Amino acid sequence: EEVVENNNEGFLPKLPPFDYSPPPYTGPSAAEILAKRKTYLSPSLLHFYNKPLNIVDGKMQYLFDESGRRYLDAFGGIATVCCGHCHPDVVKSITNQINRIQHTTVVYLNHAIADFAEALTSKMPGNLKVVFFTNSGTEANELAMMIARLYTGCNDIISLRNAYHGNAAGTMGATAQCNWKFNVVQTGVHHALNPDPYRGVFGSDGEKYAKDVQDLIDFGTSGHVAGFISEAIQGVGGIIELAPNYLPAVYASIKKAGGLCIADEVQSGFGRTGSHFWGFETQGVVPDIVTMAKGIGNGIPLGAVVTTPEVAEVLTRRSYFNTFGGNPVCTAAGLAVLKVIEKEKLQSNAFVVGSHLKERLTALKDKYEIIGDVRGRGMMLGVELVSDRQLKTPAKAETLRVMEQMKELGVLIGKGGFHGNVFRITPPLCFTKDDADYLVDAMDYTLSKM
Ligand code: PLP
Repeated sequence: EEVVENNNEGFLPKLPPFDYSPPPYTGPSAAEILAKRKTYLSPSLLHFYNKPLNIVDGKMQYLFDESGRRYLDAFGGIATVCCGHCHPDVVKSITNQINRIQHTTVVYLNHAIADFAEALTSKMPGNLKVVFFTNSGTEANELAMMIARLYTGCNDIISLRNAYHGNAAGTMGATAQCNWKFNVVQTGVHHALNPDPYRGVFGSDGEKYAKDVQDLIDFGTSGHVAGFISEAIQGVGGIIELAPNYLPAVYASIKKAGGLCIADEVQSGFGRTGSHFWGFETQGVVPDIVTMAKGIGNGIPLGAVVTTPEVAEVLTRRSYFNTFGGNPVCTAAGLAVLKVIEKEKLQSNAFVVGSHLKERLTALKDKYEIIGDVRGRGMMLGVELVSDRQLKTPAKAETLRVMEQMKELGVLIGKGGFHGNVFRITPPLCFTKDDADYLVDAMDYTLSKM
């Protein structure tokens, strides 16, 4: 049976050719899965699209639904799949490892965890040489915040409004959007003004926003703090790149107050920004602690905290461990990911293709009033829709309509931001120029019909 890839008659471009056909799918239908999900899974879980997709296969930058229909994946499993879905080198590394040993515990030695820690620290600046593996970004940030508190003997942490750092008790405190917070105890975090060039009160003046952090230290704490945590480009918050010169000024204030600077690289790490391997490097700072997850394992559950030997010493006060953190199968995946990023020059591809994509999206902004802002870098791009450019009124319903229509054209994008009116474009880093062109053509066509 012929697979229909493009069911929109007025739209002429075709998805770039791709030499892969998934095996036939004989499992349950989308409707059956949805019914089970409603009965057996947490009601907090949301799905995209009126008719949710049943994704049964993935290969590089493409996903396939139950009928074998191919979609360009421009969300990348929420900025997670960096090498491409089921990249053969990553699959091979996982398979080789899983055929030998699935799990050990920290009380025995295994080379996979040590090899990956060594490789990972070779990508870090300064003296960031000690790794603690976790299973997620939340856990990594929980640990980073605890380390900062132990090291400094202080409790106060400063985070940014609109940040997303996780969903456990401590990290939910650092997360700063009511959409993602429950009303349970989350103490010790102060939220500074967000250095958001589009919606923030000081526009792109990073140093003015940094003054707010100094004010928080002076007027909201004892003058001493445990630390500061931020993303370099807020992901869940709607792809907001911190205003230039912000982090150097803030890091100086935090250091003066005795605190540690934590860079949350869960989304922006592993070459996604194109210009740099780590997002914090775009602002020329060196953190005391770096947290990561998502891209680190290309979708395999893995996270990490990297810090200096001096700071890591605080963990020796207890036998501090994590049952699954550094599981050999996950760290084997991580090692393969680093090799693929290097071998396939994925960071440089993120830069070249991402710049082209951003240029073309920016041109769409000139064509359509509804596009209020195009931002981000590399393969971490945002397009914000507004119904009034002056007032920046969020166009939430239109955002959903465009996403639905683009799905019909075979393109999957994400959405986010406080108002849910920002497209999040975070594809696997193997995305090609033809893919980028198809995405923009599909968005152009969709906006032209609204
Ligand atoms: N930090 C950032 C920047 C994130 O985007 C996320 C998740 O989206 C997290 C932390 C939490 O990671 P996880 O969902 O793996 O716990």
